[in-house]
Amino acid sequence: MLLALNEQRQLFHPYQYTRETLQRYRPHMKFYCPQCQQPVQLKIGKYNTPHFAHNANSNCVQLFSEGESKLHLQGKIQLFEWLKGLGHTVKLEPYLPELSQRPDMLVTRQQKQFALEFQCSTISHEKWQLRTSGYEKNSIQALWLFQTPQRKQSSLGIQKIFISPIMQKTITTTASGLPYLVTYDAKTSRFIYWTNLLHVHGYTFIGKVQEIATHKQHFPFYEPKSITKDEFHRYWQLYKKLCRQFTYQRLLHSKKGMQDTFLRSSYELHFSLTAMPDYVGVPVKTAEAIPMSPLEWQTILHHFCRDLQLLPHELSDNEVRSFLIQQNVEVTDQAMQAIKNYGMVLAKSYEKNDRFPDIYEQVYTHLFAIATIY
Ligand SMILES: [Zn+2]
Repeated sequence: MLLALNEQRQLFHPYQYTRETLQRYRPHMKFYCPQCQQPVQLKIGKYNTPHFAHNANSNCVQLFSEGESKLHLQGKIQLFEWLKGLGHTVKLEPYLPELSQRPDMLVTRQQKQFALEFQCSTISHEKWQLRTSGYEKNSIQALWLFQTPQRKQSSLGIQKIFISPIMQKTITTTASGLPYLVTYDAKTSRFIYWTNLLHVHGYTFIGKVQEIATHKQHFPFYEPKSITKDEFHRYWQLYKKLCRQFTYQRLLHSKKGMQDTFLRSSYELHFSLTAMPDYVGVPVKTAEAIPMSPLEWQTILHHFCRDLQLLPHELSDNEVRSFLIQQNVEVTDQAMQAIKNYGMVLAKSYEKNDRFPDIYEQVYTHLFAIATIY
């Protein structure tokens, strides 16, 4: 922790002093944990930011954050200074006795309170849930900001992004419904945004990586804009490539041969695996509720529809349900909606004889052109 009480019971901020000054002070001062009131030690390493630590035998609940990394301590100070600079009422590591919780920061803005947690290490779902609901029960909005994962090449722009399940919990949407995630990189003092997120499969997403320097950021955070139709071109190509790779990988390990529903459907529809039509394997909203590659379920759906002599958007709820059951997919509102979304996009671009000339335009409108309400 960054703060402790001195003998006069005032909060002491070591980061406001130089290491030399702190070395001089330390022999003459005693510090106490603001939470459990036990004595704590001032640590002044060469490497880490000066901070406090409990004695080894302490059982203070604050201990969970004790293994704080240099990055975490640095980031907390940067974020605290940034919020103060914006003129907000902000408290560093305030102890909230009614919750027995101690967020990294508590920000008050127009009578609304935000608990900001800067997270550098992994955290279990249980702990995340417990702390988030603790804040919410007390009308405090929890804001989780993860340290930007370090990658070999940290480039900006449109790319494939892996998002761990715990970080997926911090995905939010803009007022107009665009999914995005904000992280903070304490190494470079920048907010890194993953915007216009599009789920592909598992932990794989496509997104546009953008950055904003701390001194340009506002609180609450700036909301990203939607990608343009030109930028969507890159999404479209990348999405189709990732779907294909995923499907080929699955086929490689499948022992079903021609018994494979996807292969059989492709064959009967005269689809060529190396040149699948443009209108299968397209991204639609809520498709993450169907744990199959869109290339596969959409192909199988066309085969299913051909047998019924219907177009996908003409399927009744019962027919959509029985399609999902046949594919062993759990029947949920989202899974039903994904099929309807796909049918809708196709219907809007349908010409005749299995031709969908503006499928690309329709998918862009469906996913990113916010003015159009489906
Ligand atoms: Zn304590």
